[in-house]
Amino acid sequence: MDHTGSLSALKKASGARVYASAVESEAMSKGRPSRQIKPKNFFRRLLMGVVSRFMKATPLRADEILSEGQVLPVLGGLHVLETPGHTAGHISLFSPSTGILFTGDSIVARGEGLVRSLQPLTWDEAKADESARKQAALGACIVCSGHGPVVMDAASKFPKI
Ligand SMILES: [Zn+2]
Repeated sequence: MDHTGSLSALKKASGARVYASAVESEAMSKGRPSRQIKPKNFFRRLLMGVVSRFMKATPLRADEILSEGQVLPVLGGLHVLETPGHTAGHISLFSPSTGILFTGDSIVARGEGLVRSLQPLTWDEAKADESARKQAALGACIVCSGHGPVVMDAASKFPKI
């Protein structure tokens, strides 16, 4: 719900177009998350089950479907990277000419560093690791993630996986 819970209202208020992967767009069109979260801890599972019953998003389909290899005409060319793991259809966006990487929740800022999608909220651990390695190899110097501050001089701060 922290991904798309207010998306419909934001779109209505701003007139913005919504871009997402096919997997995420399909989930958004049903007002549901694209993945089931299964925390290992029993009490977290129980809490998640209770909380998720009250979290609903207004169904909304993306205006544009994004996939690996597309380049958007923003920031000198914003490359679409499929980075599944946190969610099934997670994407990240990278601008090689500026060195800016938008990681969403696949890699998030913690203090001065970067960490991979956190376990209780990760759909697939192996895919999350693979996506983090893929992003670390890009040589990005600025990382903007879904949580935490913008991380500068980021090349050496990626998680070592
Ligand atoms: Zn998330």
